[in-house]
Amino acid sequence: VQHRLLVANWKMNGSVALVQTMNETLADISLSAVDVVICPPLTLLHHFTVQGNVQLGAQNISQHNAGAYTGEISADLLLEAAVTYVIIGHSERRTLNLETDEQIAAKVKVAVQAGLIPILCIGETLQQRQQEKTEQVIARQLDAVYASQPELLAKSVIAYEPIWAIGTGESASPEQAQATHAFIRDHLAKLDKEAASNIKLLYGGSVNGDNCSALFAQPDINGALVGGASLKAAEFAQICSSAQ
Ligand code: 13P
Repeated sequence: VQHRLLVANWKMNGSVALVQTMNETLADISLSAVDVVICPPLTLLHHFTVQGNVQLGAQNISQHNAGAYTGEISADLLLEAAVTYVIIGHSERRTLNLETDEQIAAKVKVAVQAGLIPILCIGETLQQRQQEKTEQVIARQLDAVYASQPELLAKSVIAYEPIWAIGTGESASPEQAQATHAFIRDHLAKLDKEAASNIKLLYGGSVNGDNCSALFAQPDINGALVGGASLKAAEFAQICSSAQ
């Protein structure tokens, strides 16, 4: 049985003190049957203890290898900082930083080529869901990355994060999330059947200690991308434990 994958996205939050608390909390629990990735702000990366099944991730990557790109970070720099995963195309970056499908596709390629595991984020707005465009939007976001480079699928993780569920306290129901995850897997099977059946599909959007177990019970939910609740060490540890 595949390990579930639990990813903490700290966004622009946290502190050295919180890293220390998280290091201690995670060291105290047994995480042998779950993979955990912490994606803190870059300046906190080197304060983390990479222990057991806990690995490091970044929240963004440049599609360029090096050069005059002020404020950006390359795959090689992330690798030197012991990073193994990278979140790509988070809705906040699509909206606030105007990242396009084309840039996101380039970033996924650069990450895979460097040996990093991309966590591609996709998801619809509330309006798109109400207009029953969820599947259309998700198919477009997936095709933009994988239709022309299906070989990247076997090296990827995908996170379904409905935008209306991010930071709102209103998670998708387990049934809603499962239905979309099943659609994602079916859609990807058209590109690479084997990769689609093996790929880890994470759910993200108001995951917490109370709703995580029901989400993890769904057959196509292979883990979670956790924002707010990942800033509370005890609650995040509980979510990790319940994923085992
Ligand atoms: P919340 O868990 O705070 O809703 O954030 C989800 C998210 O955006 C993770 O990437």
